[in-house]
Amino acid sequence: MAEERTARGEAPGAAEAAIRSRADELIAGMTTAEKAGQLTQYFYFGSLQETDAEPSVGGLPSRASTVEEALGRGEVGSLLFVTDAAEINRLQRLAVDGNPHGIPVLFGFDVIHGLRTILPVPIALAASWDPETIARGQAVAARESRAVGIHWAFAPMVDIARDPRWGRMIEGAGEDPFLGAAVAAAQVRGFQGDAVGAPERIIAGPKHFAGYGAALGGRDYDEVNLSDSELWNVYLPPFAAAVAAGAGNVMTAYMPLNGIPATGNRWLFTDVLRGALGFEGFVVSDANAVRNLATHGFAADLTDAGARAVNAGVDMEMAIADPAHAHLPEAVESGAVSEETLDTAVRRVLEAKLRLGLLDDPYVDELHAREVLGDPAHREVARVAAERSAVLLRNEGDLLPLDRGSVDSIAVIGPLADSKRDTLGPWCFDFDLDETVTVLDGIRGTAGDAVRVEYAPGIRPAQRVFASMFDMFPGNAPEDPEGFDDDAELARAVELARAADVAVVVAGEWQNMIGEAASRSSLELPGRQLELLRAVAETGTPVVLLVMHGRPLDLRWAAGNVPAILDIWYPGTQGGAAVANLLFGDVAPGGKLPFTWPRTVGQVPMIYSHTRSHEPENQARRYWDEESTPLFPFGHGLGYTRFEYGEPTVDRDAIAPGDTLTVSVDVSNAGARQGDEVVQLYLHQRHGSAARPVRELKGFERVALEPGETRTVRFALGPAELRHWNAAARDWVVDAATFDVWVGGDSTAERATTFTVTGG
Ligand code: BGC
Repeated sequence: MAEERTARGEAPGAAEAAIRSRADELIAGMTTAEKAGQLTQYFYFGSLQETDAEPSVGGLPSRASTVEEALGRGEVGSLLFVTDAAEINRLQRLAVDGNPHGIPVLFGFDVIHGLRTILPVPIALAASWDPETIARGQAVAARESRAVGIHWAFAPMVDIARDPRWGRMIEGAGEDPFLGAAVAAAQVRGFQGDAVGAPERIIAGPKHFAGYGAALGGRDYDEVNLSDSELWNVYLPPFAAAVAAGAGNVMTAYMPLNGIPATGNRWLFTDVLRGALGFEGFVVSDANAVRNLATHGFAADLTDAGARAVNAGVDMEMAIADPAHAHLPEAVESGAVSEETLDTAVRRVLEAKLRLGLLDDPYVDELHAREVLGDPAHREVARVAAERSAVLLRNEGDLLPLDRGSVDSIAVIGPLADSKRDTLGPWCFDFDLDETVTVLDGIRGTAGDAVRVEYAPGIRPAQRVFASMFDMFPGNAPEDPEGFDDDAELARAVELARAADVAVVVAGEWQNMIGEAASRSSLELPGRQLELLRAVAETGTPVVLLVMHGRPLDLRWAAGNVPAILDIWYPGTQGGAAVANLLFGDVAPGGKLPFTWPRTVGQVPMIYSHTRSHEPENQARRYWDEESTPLFPFGHGLGYTRFEYGEPTVDRDAIAPGDTLTVSVDVSNAGARQGDEVVQLYLHQRHGSAARPVRELKGFERVALEPGETRTVRFALGPAELRHWNAAARDWVVDAATFDVWVGGDSTAERATTFTVTGG
């Protein structure tokens, strides 16, 4: 049936009607307990959960045997965390045989940046400012997932993140709603294709609805208080874009939003998500978030929690253990949930299964799965994505690219340079370490026989003060090497650097220091990394710093003292190969920062799109002890060539509200090497019914230019770009006002023009 479907997940006419009537037939024959089962998703950890400890809602998931019993009773709608094709088939057989109607389960998983082939982390993908690269990457992730029997990704995470203390900023696209919306839509297209049910694709589940990134103090799970204006103008646009791209699922958020727990917030899910944004798929709670309604002191008990979630428009519960939805039959019995509301939720889940064709074909071909996972074309996509994600932060004296002809020896330094697990980044579980290329591997493989490459870690890996919940997965926390002589190793690294033509230092955070439950109170390089970097720099050997990270770190010293800084993020399976190609100039870096890089943690949250307030002339002197400007601005990123911009022009000086004008600008490659530039357009409304930000990104395009080539780039500005959600009108408005437009290579762009929106 896949070919009969159109974009946005709807099969036209007859096919859509057939799906609906088959869902209705199934519902008509189901008991309330079976319906509640369709709305329940269990973690399944198999042997990892065979401990003597009791499953607990705060931590340990239900035992495998508990889940298998529920499958046998036909009371499971979905499972998560199974990734092996044979195991998926076995569990699916239990589900189909156990369910009186033969309804299979949906297999969901955190396919955040790849399943077997690991792409750069999502914040890195965003730094490519390249929707095609992002969509291609997630299409690979979808192909591998679907082949093993996973139907649904808990991704993309589209939460805006403005406080880098919050570890989950690595999963999103950074601080900006316009970039965030473009990246969200690209990921949904990649995961899902044209519609739910497209071959070799999986359901996309944007998360966490909504506002999760604004956790107080950057502390994961803490409360969020957002004005409606900020919610509509900043936090909701990426969700709106993901929904418009056809996302079949949305996940709730853990925390209370303005005092109401998000997972029980009827306004959010019914009025905003389904009403204003037009979402037509099914909603899943975050893990345990339905039960949490009672933990929050919102629901009276578990029955009340389940009832409140379903009545709010949250269909499926993701349960760590002891689901609240097991109590839904009682809620229906007492009248707290109507039969109709329950059926609506069940219908949404069944329709997803029907669109995927699951009822007719629930199993996967294990041999085919192995072939797909081994497809070398997938590694190629991952390498290109890593190359396009890298951001050149600094390049004094054109130290980069390195010239194979004049560099005889390279010292590669730092434990992260040779850590396969850290090269992949957080939020992946099914990777193949053997095929992972570290920075050291990449440089060794690319430098050529004439270049001597030597390695020293210099220091031992740093450790978290409090363990990560992901450290339950073997190898997640860095090993503390036995017998490591700190002083001797540091001295050895410094000597290697002294004897080399160039020192490449890899520094940043270990991957278990960023992601979920990985908030930080500081942004400093953990452990003795700064000491190592300084000691290496003091040798006088030119230093290239490669930053492996997912949040901005305090690089004040490096930004003043290290000539070349290349941001490589956690670059994934082929990361080291990509980094080596960049270092030797086989490809040029062209990524740009998707966030404002603060100087120090005391400045956060810091964004480029702040409003103009009292004494704007002192904007850079808001603190008496440190500049209140960023270390690197939003949108910053250098290349190996130089770009020149012409004066931007508008095709009309004035337009009526509702009309669209075009801004054009010429961009030239004025250097000697080929390169990519991300042309960015920023807008400012000078006056109107609200004080609008000093600048807002409203257009971008990544262009590749040969030396001497000039390209005219055009941007359309219409109601979608000119409107804002206004707190006084409590609606979207386009003000009659004068607007400034800047076009350039980052958020400090100076080439400007203006136009006016006339009154009515
Ligand atoms: C996270 C979600 C994730 C889920 C399942 C939760 O702790 O907040 O983003 O999808 O776990 O792993």
